Amino acid sequence: MTVSVGEELRRIAKGEVLDDEWSREIYSVDASHYTFLPSAVVHPTDRHDLKQICQYSFAKGLPVTGRGAGTGLLGQSLSNNVVIDFTKHMNQIIEIEDNYVLVEPGVVKGLLDRELRRKGKFLPPDPASSNYCTIGGMIANNSSGPHGLFYGSTINFLEAVKVVYADGSFGCLCKMKSHEERAAKLLKLLSPYTKLIQSGYPPVTKNSCGYRLDAVLNDKGFYPHKVFAGSEGTLGLVTSAKFKILDIPLYRHLLVLGFENLIAATFAVQDILSFSPTALEMLDHTAISPQKNDSIGPTGCLLFVEFTSNDLKIVDRNLSLCRNRTSDYSTAIESASDEQSIQRIWAARKGALNNIMRITVGSRRPIGLIEDTVVRTSFLHDYVLYLQKVYLENKLDYVMYGHLGDGNIHTRPIIDLNSPREVQLIESIADRVFNKVIKNRGTITGEHGDGLSRVGYICRMYGEAIFDIFKQVKHLFDPTCVMNPGKKIPLNIS
Ligand SMILES: Cc1cc2nc3c(=O)[nH]c(=O)nc-3n(C[C@H](O)[C@H](O)[C@H](O)COP(=O)(O)OP(=O)(O)OC[C@H]3O[C@@H](n4cnc5c(N)ncnc54)[C@H](O)[C@@H]3O)c2cc1C
Repeated sequence: MTVSVGEELRRIAKGEVLDDEWSREIYSVDASHYTFLPSAVVHPTDRHDLKQICQYSFAKGLPVTGRGAGTGLLGQSLSNNVVIDFTKHMNQIIEIEDNYVLVEPGVVKGLLDRELRRKGKFLPPDPASSNYCTIGGMIANNSSGPHGLFYGSTINFLEAVKVVYADGSFGCLCKMKSHEERAAKLLKLLSPYTKLIQSGYPPVTKNSCGYRLDAVLNDKGFYPHKVFAGSEGTLGLVTSAKFKILDIPLYRHLLVLGFENLIAATFAVQDILSFSPTALEMLDHTAISPQKNDSIGPTGCLLFVEFTSNDLKIVDRNLSLCRNRTSDYSTAIESASDEQSIQRIWAARKGALNNIMRITVGSRRPIGLIEDTVVRTSFLHDYVLYLQKVYLENKLDYVMYGHLGDGNIHTRPIIDLNSPREVQLIESIADRVFNKVIKNRGTITGEHGDGLSRVGYICRMYGEAIFDIFKQVKHLFDPTCVMNPGKKIPLNIS
């Protein structure tokens, strides 16, 4: 009689193993449009438990896929094999010190924010999904958010990771430990390619495409732990992580500017950036429900501009310079400096994707493939015109919003899934848009990651030479390809 994977895992793991139909169904979806039914789901109790699970999977050649809250938008946490959920037991904040925090991967970012706030601290990357998403997922996708403009993405704050590798062995990566076996091999692998790596990545402020080798080895040094940022669980499973944290600034002011349309708003970006805002976000009329866009008219566009400092005079000066500079071509719709109003206003911007995901009418729904490209802000105006032209030519409605200050536009065409013409357009439009972005030295993903949808575009993004290094990195960490296979490196490529 054959014993199922679930039964075998139950004999090995200390944590719960779920393999009933209902549980597998629940874990078969995430925030993407894909469905993959896992054979079993495990809740490891700690890293020792995870080690046993990985040793078993490795011996059997069984793929394992980590999972946080399942809010990934491109199918990153989905698998037909073993899913490892870190949210139930491995969810502790281990230590908060003056300048760092040590956490387990299953901690929800919003809960960490709350604890840090009590001490006057914060970890800046602030995805709109913070109330649900986990630190493990944020590392794996190199997540970001509105304040990425000033502070950077998850990768910029990651200082060390403890991991379990494919074969169940423990690893500990940080700047000081380049003698750790895997780190030493990584350094040896990357060193001959230093120049290629530094010239082969796009000059944009955020990037979640491929492996972020540019952050691993550069002029400043060797940062082996950063290879895990944006790696989508394909190199090993993170069991704890250390992050740099900052003091919450004393003062902030949020200004909402209304523009006639998105194109007019893109013209203002360079002007506004010259006043060093901590956030510069955009909500186009396409992403605002018709009831709510009275203040900006049917084609209007909103920019959310935040100024922050420990010096109130600096906030006030930048705010007033910004208002003066933009007053001829925009209207100040809201302006707030008290925390409650700021939170209320940000909620409107942060709720954008949630609202958009609900715009499903019958078989028509917004499809996330183009999703979150980044271009240099000097190219934004031409790029937005190009996107609008592509949608218009193909007679498609669309939504647009995003982190305009980073050149990071979130956009989805609204596709009728019952229309073969429109379904067939999804990939051809993405093809055109990605080519445009790559040609202009942008990235196909600034923060949402490659997942299943975009893994096939990574080679095009970086070219054969860098993609070949990615394959070697994958092989170094996961030689038998059991760590979330099919993500970062397509399945048919060895
Ligand atoms: C409404 C909505 C709004 C969003 N807004 C933003 C936004 O503003 N900015 C942004 O960047 N993203 C955003 N996202 C995307 C998503 O929330 C983030 O990518 C988030 O960080 C994913 O976290 P998660 O816990 O849900 O991870 P999951 O989706 O569960 O997993 C994501 C990846 O992490 C891997 N993983 C999980 N735990 C581990 C571990 N311990 N070790 C190794 N790999 C692991 C998984 O295998 C998978 O590859 C949004 C999503 C939604 C649905």
